[in-house]
Amino acid sequence: MDHFRLIDGELHAEDVPLSRIADEVGTPVYVYSRATFERHARVFRDALSGLDRPPHLAFAVKANPNLAVLRLLANEGYGADVVSGGELARALAAGMAAHDIVFSGVGKTAAELAQGLDAGIGQFNIESGEEGRELAAIAAARGVVARCALRVNPDVDAGTHDKISTGKADNKFGVPISHAPALFAELSQLPGLDLRGLAVHIGSQLSDLDPLEQAFGKLGAMLRELRGAGHTITHMDLGGGLGVPYRSGEVLPTPHAYGAMVARVTRGWDVTVMFEPGRVIAGNAGVLLTRVIRVKRGLNHPFVIVDAAMNDLARPALYGAWHDFDAVRPSGERMTGNIVGPICETGDTFATDRQTDALVAGDLAVFRTAGAYGATMASSYNSRGFVAEVMVDGADYAVVAERILPAAIADAERVPDFLTRR
Ligand SMILES: *Cc1c(COP(=O)(O)O)cnc(C)c1O
Repeated sequence: MDHFRLIDGELHAEDVPLSRIADEVGTPVYVYSRATFERHARVFRDALSGLDRPPHLAFAVKANPNLAVLRLLANEGYGADVVSGGELARALAAGMAAHDIVFSGVGKTAAELAQGLDAGIGQFNIESGEEGRELAAIAAARGVVARCALRVNPDVDAGTHDKISTGKADNKFGVPISHAPALFAELSQLPGLDLRGLAVHIGSQLSDLDPLEQAFGKLGAMLRELRGAGHTITHMDLGGGLGVPYRSGEVLPTPHAYGAMVARVTRGWDVTVMFEPGRVIAGNAGVLLTRVIRVKRGLNHPFVIVDAAMNDLARPALYGAWHDFDAVRPSGERMTGNIVGPICETGDTFATDRQTDALVAGDLAVFRTAGAYGATMASSYNSRGFVAEVMVDGADYAVVAERILPAAIADAERVPDFLTRR
């Protein structure tokens, strides 16, 4: 459920008409709903109320790293799952407690490991023996101990898009689960490491709970094996991945169904279970608001050329992803069109032969479900600026990311002397 709805024929974010934001901030612009974010954060937490112990919730920052979003989630009691030093700095800047932060990622540099240690973060999810040894050495040299979990690759097919699948044996993430016992034994001996658990994350936009249940089942078996070998396990991190509906009418497993499955599988584990939800919290809490530049006649269907492009919302170009596309003031008439951006790439196509509200030049429209993996993937390709972001709160809104203009980006560039000397 979200708080984007028609009031008197115009799409609103909570109580703010989208035309007001377009007039005052310009387009394209991401519009987030505070109430929707909070609702999703609470629904996800409530869904896990059947676990043996209260869970640790760490929002996957890469889904939406905006500082206002992180602050909102910190207020909801969420920590952060970060995958870079930049994300770690953001989570801290937004007010998240260091001990609530988990550091994931296959390529943490020595500097990033040190940054996490100096901040005193809650847990490193180690993705290889090599990384574990390096972290141990850096921690020992500082005279501190790194709390960590070993991320295993359970070799299950998440059944999602190849580019967002992370738990198959040939994906780069985690250590093969067959290597886990020996590696755990080795790393747990290292001074500098407090290896306290296991972690798994098999992919994103999962539309089926079975692969998750399989992965968690394998993790549970490994937990018993490690305990049998005398290891102390206090934390188990089950990652993120729960999908959200991108098409109206699409049915996905609910957080409630996910929570019930997790409660069943983890019963008796006697650990703190950790979660790293991203998309399920942020996805439907945002839309990308855009204006139609012009409608161009095509051979078959017209091209609806909007002022948002693949640099603002990359998912359709990157994964062939679907976003519902609706007029802000639907007239009731419909059309079939190709929804495209202005960028000089055929990949800058949001939808082909799409049934949509009838639109003409100057009309406003939204791409829905753009709150996750939207603004965060933006680029300045074609020397377009970085898209602005707004958060709505009831009848008010605030700009939570200024538009970065092309001139500001060019300001960081230099023409070296050797090119201007004659
Ligand atoms: C991307 C990612 C997540 C979040 O995935 P969602 O599908 O957005 O829930 C969680 N954990 C890790 C390690 C990730 O890389």
